[in-house]
Amino acid sequence: MYYDVTYILVIIAAVLCMAASAGVKSTYNKYAKVLSMSGMTGAQVADRILRQNGITDVGIAHVGGNLTDHYDPRSKMVNLSDSVYDATSVAAVAVAAHECGHVMQHARGYLPLKIRTALVPAANIGSKAGIPIIMLGLILGLTPFVDLGIWVFSLAVLFQVVTLPVEFDASHRALIMLEDYGILAHDEVSGSRKVLQAAAMTYVASAASAALQLLRFILLSNSRRRD
Ligand SMILES: [Zn+2]
Repeated sequence: MYYDVTYILVIIAAVLCMAASAGVKSTYNKYAKVLSMSGMTGAQVADRILRQNGITDVGIAHVGGNLTDHYDPRSKMVNLSDSVYDATSVAAVAVAAHECGHVMQHARGYLPLKIRTALVPAANIGSKAGIPIIMLGLILGLTPFVDLGIWVFSLAVLFQVVTLPVEFDASHRALIMLEDYGILAHDEVSGSRKVLQAAAMTYVASAASAALQLLRFILLSNSRRRD
């Protein structure tokens, strides 16, 4: 390809994502060594939170991998990874409670989650088709194609941005429930908070990275228009 100064934005985006990913791993490893006084495992914590909220139609499953924890609203399963399911650390308990935070959002009809779910099909199209359309437009020198690609890619960026309040809210709910239900003592909550904050930074980095890529395409499109 030709010399392109906007490529610096792609590098910044990659560095942000790598830094956030390293941050969550090191914070998790640090607090995975701090065992909670209650001695409850991630799975037991999830079970307690669901019961305490009268939620009986959501299951808890053990999935492989690390930091692969997630709540699947379609199968109604809280999926907890190897380092969370049977672990009793303040890190494991934090992640289990965060996933239950998503269950609560779903059960209570939390609006940003509804918007995020509604955006999934558009975001899939945006992330798969956006960049190829832009590239095709740039190669063929067709500005309308580039502009169309930018709009399509914007859907993927929008999705990443809407994800942020959903993630922050799930962590906020998690920390309140951990303390209110007596799962963690007041002074143990700060470790859990640090783990969830580090995890949230990975979502911030992804959104910033997508926004930087979008900015790059807008700059490329504008420079083409001037040529
Ligand atoms: Zn989450």
